[in-house]
Amino acid sequence: MVDITEHFLELVRLAATDLPPDVEISLTQALEREKTGSAARGALETILKNVEIARRDSTPICQDTGTPIFYVYYPEGWSTRRLRAQIESAVAKATQRTYLRPNSVDPLSGKNSGDNLGGNYFPTIHFEEVEGDTLTVDLMLKGGGCENVGAQYSLPNTALGAGRDLTGVRKVVLDAVHKAQGKGCAPGILGIAIGGDRGSSYLASKEVLFGKIAEDNSDPQLAELETRLTEEANQLGIGPMGFGGQTTVLGTKITSLNRLPASYFVSVSYMCWAYRRRRMIFKDGEVQYE
Ligand code: SF4
Repeated sequence: MVDITEHFLELVRLAATDLPPDVEISLTQALEREKTGSAARGALETILKNVEIARRDSTPICQDTGTPIFYVYYPEGWSTRRLRAQIESAVAKATQRTYLRPNSVDPLSGKNSGDNLGGNYFPTIHFEEVEGDTLTVDLMLKGGGCENVGAQYSLPNTALGAGRDLTGVRKVVLDAVHKAQGKGCAPGILGIAIGGDRGSSYLASKEVLFGKIAEDNSDPQLAELETRLTEEANQLGIGPMGFGGQTTVLGTKITSLNRLPASYFVSVSYMCWAYRRRRMIFKDGEVQYE
């Protein structure tokens, strides 16, 4: 099998240092909504300046370079064992070159591995075999601060008056945004999964964050809920970095999974403004990045 470690390394560099255009545009639009001289506008100006410097100098967009989460869609015949080895090697090289901060610590001793590797879950790599001859790899770097404010609700939730319907979903998601204020580095993006079990629901709430901010949801009910939640979250007045203002979230992405009749989970993955996700497409020896 061909060695594409260097392509994986470039994927990691891009994800860590070059914010995707749709996120930067969304942050710029948020800045234009804030009053001149306000703390919110100042926070967004600093964020955007930082994004520019990171891109120019190939330095991390944020000091927390997050958990690397890979999704590998591979054609028949590729070895997942070798792909894993190449990805891990690229992650270790990216750490040496300081695109990534050493972020992987032993859960019990707290000892840092120094190279962003550790067991089977750091980095996290999901594999799925696909038709055709194109290898597609998505990478997200998920910051720790925003991960800490993720939440899962089991409906009905009597304390919040949230039943097993989309009104109940709205109530618990807004509760999660409210609780995240001052943490998680707003403006964020909400990844929401309705249904599934506890594990699949949380996983899907992260997977939905691989989509572009402005991409329309193919389900009209969920599309409407996405728009409404973004508007309502922005009425909370939390604002960029919690300084107050118009933009608490840049967008909302929702997916749904079949569930057991006995369960109704709503999982919220909060992604900070450092919404680092990149894609690599490898076909016929040629590589492209998005
Ligand atoms: S939550 Fe995001 S922006 Fe905030 S410190 Fe972590 S990675 Fe950086």
